[in-house]
Amino acid sequence: MIRIDILSAVPELLYSPLNHSIVKRALEKNIAQIHIHDIREYGKGNYKQIDDYQYGGDAGMVLMIEPIYKIISELKSQRDYDEVIYMSPDGDLLNQATCNQLSCQKNIIVLCGHYKGIDHRIREHLITKEISVGDYVLSGGELPAAILCDAIIRLIPGAISDETSALSDSFQDNLLAPPVYTRPSIFNGWEVPDVLLSGNPKLIKDWQDNQSYERTLKLRPHLLKKED
Ligand code: SAH
Repeated sequence: MIRIDILSAVPELLYSPLNHSIVKRALEKNIAQIHIHDIREYGKGNYKQIDDYQYGGDAGMVLMIEPIYKIISELKSQRDYDEVIYMSPDGDLLNQATCNQLSCQKNIIVLCGHYKGIDHRIREHLITKEISVGDYVLSGGELPAAILCDAIIRLIPGAISDETSALSDSFQDNLLAPPVYTRPSIFNGWEVPDVLLSGNPKLIKDWQDNQSYERTLKLRPHLLKKED
C-alpha cells in the first residue's frame, strides 16, 4: 500500500482527476491512499494568509514558508516519508522509470505550487525531489500532481485487474506499445490487420513486437539507445 499526501492551495482541482476509473478503484480497494491537505487551513492569522509579495519587488505572489512547513512537520511527526516531492517546471522530467520507482515507496508527500511558486527555502530544506511534467508552465501543481498519482497508482499490483497489462504499456522495456484494435473488424472499409484475426498467438506476438520496435524507432528513437 502506498500513501500519498498532497499539499495544495486549490484542492478542488484534485478531487475529480483522482476520483474515477483505475485510481478510484485502487483507493476503494485500499491499494493506495491519497490524503489531500488544504494549505489554506494552515494559513496565518484570521485571513488564513498563505501567500505574500516576493522580495525584490517583481510582480506575482509566492506561497509562504510557514503554512507549508507546518503541514510537512505535522505529517513527518506521524510517519517516515520516502520522498517530499515538489511539482515544478524546472524539476526532473517525469518518465516511466521514475513512476516505477515511486510506485514501490510507502509514503510520499507531493507539494503543489501556485502563483509565482513557493519560497525557495522550502525547496532547499524540505524537498527531496522535484518533478516536472514537461517544458511548459501551468497555473498550479495540482494537475501535475494528479498526473504523477495516476501514473504511480496504476502500477501497483492489484490496481489493474489484468496485472500484466501495466507492464505491456508503452515505455516499459523502453518500447512503445503496438497498435490495438477492437470490433468490428471492418469499418467503413478500414480493416484490422489480418494477423490479429489469425488466431495464431506466435504470429500475433511477432507482429506486435515488430510494430513496437518500428514505432519506437520512428516516434521515440532515443528510447532504443537507453541501457536501462
Ligand atoms: N514562476 C515559476 C512557475 C510557477 S507556475 C517558473 O517560472 O518556474 C505555478 C506552479 O505550478 C509551480 O509552483 C508548480 O508547482 C506548478 N507547475 C507549473 N508548471 C509545471 C510543470 N510543467 N510541471 C510541474 N509543475 C508545474
